[in-house]
Amino acid sequence: MAETLRNTDDGHQNGRQDSGRPDVRQGRAPRDEARLWAELVATARRTVADGLVVGTSGNVSARVGDLVLVTPSGVPYDRLTPDDITGVDLTGRQVLGTLTPTSELPMHLAVYRTTDARAVVHTHAVHATAVSTLVSELPPVHYMTAALGGPVRVAPYAAYGSDELAGNMLRALTGRSGCLLRNHGTITYGATLGQAYDRTAQLEWMCRLWLTASSVPGLTPSLLTEAQLAEAGERLKGYGQRR
Ligand code: 13P
Ligand code: ZN
Repeated sequence: MAETLRNTDDGHQNGRQDSGRPDVRQGRAPRDEARLWAELVATARRTVADGLVVGTSGNVSARVGDLVLVTPSGVPYDRLTPDDITGVDLTGRQVLGTLTPTSELPMHLAVYRTTDARAVVHTHAVHATAVSTLVSELPPVHYMTAALGGPVRVAPYAAYGSDELAGNMLRALTGRSGCLLRNHGTITYGATLGQAYDRTAQLEWMCRLWLTASSVPGLTPSLLTEAQLAEAGERLKGYGQRR
């Protein structure tokens, strides 16, 4: 879709000289960056395929060293090619690509600056967004609450793409790997794109579960106690296959 351009001062360039722009080079990204970009695009496409977003809503990022690869703003994910690789540094300066980065850079960069995250996924998942309009914290109806660090908070509303939204999100993320954004959607992070994506899917599933259980007239869902969540959190550390 677009030419790949990289500033010359980042020490990674290996492409042809761009004759018209002496301070910019173009060419293929190094192999690890190209692989991560392919994984990022696949993750973004999955958010659409799984119904977590519609159209170009939501955004995905992944960090390698001080480089943060991000989805470009407003570009359908099925149109992204290897040449559309888009990257910024931790201050938000664009160091890779020509497409405008996601409008939610403040949220993504705030997560990378304050946590050990290697990937961030933001969606407008419908059940999660519905819950964000109803409560200030998702009631702990399921033990998978513990997989996100505890009851998931709702960050107060602020305009999309704003520093204010990023600040509200950071506060809601304290001790958690995900939160809801009021009247907007979800954000989760993880050590890999797969983990960040899975946390979003689990969060959306738990929101659907709570909406389903709490909409039975005359009945109220039972909730887990702090001790039960702590126990689940301990067990989840050993969940799955051990190699
Ligand atoms: P971008 O297309 O700029 O990533 O914006 C989508 C979005 O979800 C804004 O909150
Ligand atoms: Zn959004």
